[in-house]
Amino acid sequence: MLEPHAMQLSRPGRFAVALPPPGVPPQETPPPHLLRDELRLPELTQIDVVRHFTRLSQLNWSIDTHMYPLGSCTMKLNPKVNDAVASLPGFTNAHPLQPASEAQGALAVMHGLQAMLAEICGLAGASVAPMAGAQGELAGILVIKAYLESRGEERTRVLVPDSAHGTNPATASMAGFDVVAVQSRPDGDMDLDALRDALEQHGHAVAALMITLPSTLGLFDRNIVRIAEMVHAHGALMYGDGANLNAMLGQVRPGDLGFDVMHINLHKTFSTPHGGGGPGAGPIAVTDALLPFLPAPHVVREGAFALIDPPHSIGRLGAFHGNFGVLARAYAYIRALGAGGLRAISEAAVLNANYVQERLRGAYDLAHDRRCMHEVLFSGARQKAQGARTLDIAKRMIDYGYHPPTIYFPLVVDEALMIEPTESETKETLDAFCDAMLKIAEEAATSPELLREAPHNAPLRRLDEATAARKPVLRWDRDSR
Ligand SMILES: *Cc1c(COP(=O)(O)O)cnc(C)c1O
Repeated sequence: MLEPHAMQLSRPGRFAVALPPPGVPPQETPPPHLLRDELRLPELTQIDVVRHFTRLSQLNWSIDTHMYPLGSCTMKLNPKVNDAVASLPGFTNAHPLQPASEAQGALAVMHGLQAMLAEICGLAGASVAPMAGAQGELAGILVIKAYLESRGEERTRVLVPDSAHGTNPATASMAGFDVVAVQSRPDGDMDLDALRDALEQHGHAVAALMITLPSTLGLFDRNIVRIAEMVHAHGALMYGDGANLNAMLGQVRPGDLGFDVMHINLHKTFSTPHGGGGPGAGPIAVTDALLPFLPAPHVVREGAFALIDPPHSIGRLGAFHGNFGVLARAYAYIRALGAGGLRAISEAAVLNANYVQERLRGAYDLAHDRRCMHEVLFSGARQKAQGARTLDIAKRMIDYGYHPPTIYFPLVVDEALMIEPTESETKETLDAFCDAMLKIAEEAATSPELLREAPHNAPLRRLDEATAARKPVLRWDRDSR
């Protein structure tokens, strides 16, 4: 059942707060033709307002209320200490136009984060300007483009594996490159013959290979060093999509594997709040040769901390300095954990995913039967043959109190169902989750209609997501109800 809109709860004359007397002299009202007779605002008592918004907030799924195994998204605990740090008055009251001399603390956080991310990635430097993973991708690819142009090289193509996240080809294309897809092998690793062919066929037109490690299949490509050598041998660069960095934190540094540029999703790996399209951050780390091309502004330490434009910068990505509140949270997270803590994260994340893989392997088909990294990829093909599609499995999980995993991605796996438990969950929660998944597999075999009609106890059942995204109703309108 749909929650009533606040307008429907409204009764004339009710109010929730008494406004304090204004601290400024009364102003003249605008001319009468600009005034409305009726201002359609809801009139409610305070308790009704509190209940209304509390109820609405509970209709949402969040990592604070439910396990959220959304593959590739790393929906991990957002430690509350991050919020305490980001809420320090010196940070929340800072103004982006304040002179650097008055914002040394904030700049120190950005500078420290640049350095720690570069160290974690094994690269020479980092920029914290990009405000999303996708924007980091664009920044990174533009850095590559600017670098190649500075060398007088005209390279127009970017190689992307067929398992890639949609933002990879979209980024390459937005930056003006043509995208060439490279096949994966049945075992999930990149097909080296296909890569060799692509490099030979497109020769010196290839600017970069964009690759995610571990891959979007949840697998560590065992040939990654060889791949980097092949790409470099053709004068092209290695772009790393770092969305899956959680699996490798402190274990291996992408720079040591041969990556030249990568982005890092702070709202994934570094525990900043994630979801609802809210602010994120997608810093990039680069090799020495690419430092002069980093986005502006960049934080340097010349005695005091200062903001500069790198000499051959690709320019600004936004009005100011990135999403500072997100940067402060990630900084707090890394400092709270230290090197040993970061290493423990990747170990627990990978262990948890492999535990889920082992518990569910009899009930669901594995896309690749080998040790997974931080997420495990199943196929719902068996259940589909029984009469319940992967979408139906996902919807049924809502009835059991779990946010559905990522489905139908990566595109190269039939009926894909990608589970990322993260390191945050206890064994008890993982077991309860696996029990629910096993029960659903049983239901698919015996009464698939139960899945096809799910969710049974959600406030709304199956929504037309495409129409909701294309024609959103954002405003209360009595006539639209
Ligand atoms: C999440 C993700 C992205 C995009 O990152 P955003 O921060 O959502 O813009 C890119 N690639 C992969 C593999 C991802 O999982």
